[in-house]
Amino acid sequence: MAKKVICLFDVDGTLTDPRQSIKPQVEKFLLGTVKKEFDLAVVGGSDLNKLKEQLGGKSMFEKYKYVFAENGLIAFKDGKQLRTETLQSMIGEEQLQDFINFCLKYISELHLPFKRGTFIEFRSGMLNISPVGRNCTQEERIQFYEYDLENQIRQKFIQAIKKEFPDLAFTYSIGGQISFDVFPIGWDKTYCLRHIQGYEEIHFFGDKTAEGGNDHEIYESDLTVGHRVTSPEDTVKQLKILMALTKERKEREQQSLPFPMQCA
Ligand SMILES: [Mg+2]
Repeated sequence: MAKKVICLFDVDGTLTDPRQSIKPQVEKFLLGTVKKEFDLAVVGGSDLNKLKEQLGGKSMFEKYKYVFAENGLIAFKDGKQLRTETLQSMIGEEQLQDFINFCLKYISELHLPFKRGTFIEFRSGMLNISPVGRNCTQEERIQFYEYDLENQIRQKFIQAIKKEFPDLAFTYSIGGQISFDVFPIGWDKTYCLRHIQGYEEIHFFGDKTAEGGNDHEIYESDLTVGHRVTSPEDTVKQLKILMALTKERKEREQQSLPFPMQCA
């Protein structure tokens, strides 16, 4: 009996170039070849709209068995949305409000070369906090990023939060140019694994697998077989190897010879 296998992909840097749409040849290989052998799933850190832009709009739900946005805090199986937790249900309204109030106060006392709007964005499973404000222009983004490199605005902000809330089980992650993310410990990409049921092997493909990268925890997880990739082209290459190994294993099994699964 063949093993039931699912391939789970990070999006940026793994299936697509960062923030770009999937290339037709990559998608064709996934849907035309890989999908005949394995179920397919995607997990991104960004919101659902961004994923749709990159993976072909609504039809994304027909292409992939599971679609996970925001690390799996927004989850779909066969196009149907699954129940997940929220930040407020996790830490409680009272504490959440203390946290937000502290951040707003801190920002209000911060003097920067300039400030714009939307300082805190509330997502399903995380807060995105931007000292300069998310609706700055592309040019202002870069200016703030350079200012931040010199002055450690985001680093110092996170230190101040940790000092104020030493017991709060939050992870702080500086990504991009103007903001940092705050989310409960464990609500990294491994969060999505709780939704995946009925497989003997989950093969995860990601590009940011080193420590501190947003694929690190799920790549290292005991629940997955991890594949480190460098680009969408490398993902295709590694999938070809996995498919060849699987074919070989099937043939061996038919001859009832033991053959340990190797991971590329
Ligand atoms: Mg990535």
